[in-house]
Amino acid sequence: MNGQGDITHRSRVDTPKDNYQKALDAIKGLVEKLEKEAGAVAGTVAVVPIGIGTPGAISHKTGLMKNCNSTCLNGMPLQADLETLMSRPVRIANDADCFTLSEARDGAAAGTNNVFGVILGTGVGGGICLNQQPVQGINGIAGEWGHNPLALDNLQSNNTIFPGMPPRICYCGRRNCVESWLAGPSFELSYDIVSGRKLRAPAIASLVQQCEPDAIMIMDRYHNMLALALSTVINILDPEKIVLGGGLSNITSLYTEMPKYLDRYVFSDRVDTEIVKAKHGDSSGVRGAAWLWPLEET
Ligand SMILES: [Zn+2]
Repeated sequence: MNGQGDITHRSRVDTPKDNYQKALDAIKGLVEKLEKEAGAVAGTVAVVPIGIGTPGAISHKTGLMKNCNSTCLNGMPLQADLETLMSRPVRIANDADCFTLSEARDGAAAGTNNVFGVILGTGVGGGICLNQQPVQGINGIAGEWGHNPLALDNLQSNNTIFPGMPPRICYCGRRNCVESWLAGPSFELSYDIVSGRKLRAPAIASLVQQCEPDAIMIMDRYHNMLALALSTVINILDPEKIVLGGGLSNITSLYTEMPKYLDRYVFSDRVDTEIVKAKHGDSSGVRGAAWLWPLEET
């Protein structure tokens, strides 16, 4: 990515499974390949620092990785090892934090100083940017709202009667996590429970357009639950903008209908927080990793 935020080169390799050394070598190989390409264009090869976005986080106390879905990284000093391997400084941040930084820096929330970024995909993640800097926190988990419990007892329905659904046990072991109701597979499960049909989220969203009653009801419930979950974030952080990313962020009613429910749950006489769609889509995670190095520091 250049200094204007334009991606100039892009390369992707599969993550080696269950082998830490191979993961290190894959990253080194990618960096060397991209550097070669960039050098060929610019006519020079400069040693540049590296920014990495990853699921999970780096512990500030120990410098070791944790909560990574590439489990071979957990417990390892990834940053120190990469710095030694590539002889250059490396910064590592959670991928949702990188997403939020990308959108706060030059995306859908550019120019705002208090931003909450939300990933609604196969899981639910979140990140915070204050004054265009990611907030990571002492435990490295700032913004991780996906495993907060969703207070379903407080869900206030309109005229819609929501069907009873059994509580959900999250893979993390907790009960009724935000993720277990608001991730893409969770949304699809809700529709399946009501309709008996296993459909992917985009298909359910298009059934709403066709006025299919079960799809309308499940989508309405999703808006309501998302507002309930976001209200806890707004009450604490009070962001100017909340940026939605991930597969479900393509559902347009999240921006038109969901905000109507916020008034019920946010502790304020009015809610001025804007809910906006990510500008950079799937590229925001890697863009944000690059922005971990502001231009003035490179
Ligand atoms: Zn959980």
